[in-house]
Amino acid sequence: YSAKDRGLGVCVYDDGLNVHSPERLGLLGELRRAIDGRELVLHFQPKATLSGEEVCGVEALVRWQHPERGLVAPAEFIPLAERTPLIRPLTRYVVDAALAQCARWRTTGRTLRVAVNISARNLLDERFVDDVLELLARHDVPAWFLELEVTESAIMADPARARAILTRLAEVGVTLSIDDFGAGYTSLAHLKDLPVHQLKVDRSLVTDVTVHRSNALIVRSVVELARNLGLTTVAEGVEDRETWDLLARLGCDVAQGHLLCRPMPAELLEAWFDRARVGV
Ligand code: C2E
Ligand code: MG
Ligand code: MG
Ligand code: MG
Repeated sequence: YSAKDRGLGVCVYDDGLNVHSPERLGLLGELRRAIDGRELVLHFQPKATLSGEEVCGVEALVRWQHPERGLVAPAEFIPLAERTPLIRPLTRYVVDAALAQCARWRTTGRTLRVAVNISARNLLDERFVDDVLELLARHDVPAWFLELEVTESAIMADPARARAILTRLAEVGVTLSIDDFGAGYTSLAHLKDLPVHQLKVDRSLVTDVTVHRSNALIVRSVVELARNLGLTTVAEGVEDRETWDLLARLGCDVAQGHLLCRPMPAELLEAWFDRARVGV
């Protein structure tokens, strides 16, 4: 769906996005109220090891439960929000809700690391690390349970500042992943200096991995690169068994995708967890 189709009346995809247009200012105002009114909800998607098919974590994905428009996808509002200071309260909201859920799982004996997506602007914000520490303390969740996913392009917006903030996060024990790896341009020179733990292979490489030999070769190279750097690999967007098996053969560590489970509200995941083998 485009934003227009969903009735938001604006399209946030075109580049050179003008956040000052009346429509967008309207949308931003509405989004600000949505954060205060707790209209943003999190869906969670499990990740599992490719070899043992053991659940090893979940990714939190935000949606906007709009009173009139129904459930609005992140692509409809994140690209706009992340160009404005509103991304700070939005990310705080998501980390807060994700850690609240993580704490609830902990009380029922589920040891699940929860991943949250963060934006370039969060990595340029000196207060971001303090926000994260404050929220970990509020929910009494050890930093080890929190994973932050950041795209290469977010890091490349200002590599030196991003590295400084990522280093502080890694030092306090937060797990760091590079999201959509292989989708943008790769800066291997920067990668080796980043305190990250994991590479998430972009869905565009995973989707056709069984069809295009070149994709399989790229995934194999990413896995080897990750191993050499001491990082683990996660494949996103795994939709069929053949892809799962090939990724396992290529040496990828973890998979995420519709084959395993679609993102869904925590309450609905309970039944799924009861059937799956959940560990860390
Ligand atoms: P992402 O972090 O790369 O998340 C993966 C996206 O792929 C999610 O879309 C997920 O629902 C979808 N997906 C998972 N498995 C499959 C599959 O097997 N097949 C296909 N076709 N898709 C699959 P979603 O939830 O619409 O999120 C889109 C993007 O929005 C995310 O991409 C992330 O960049 C951003 N996003 C989501 N939540 C947040 C958030 O809380 N904060 C920020 N800053 N960005 C967010
Ligand atoms: Mg992600
Ligand atoms: Mg991704
Ligand atoms: Mg992606």
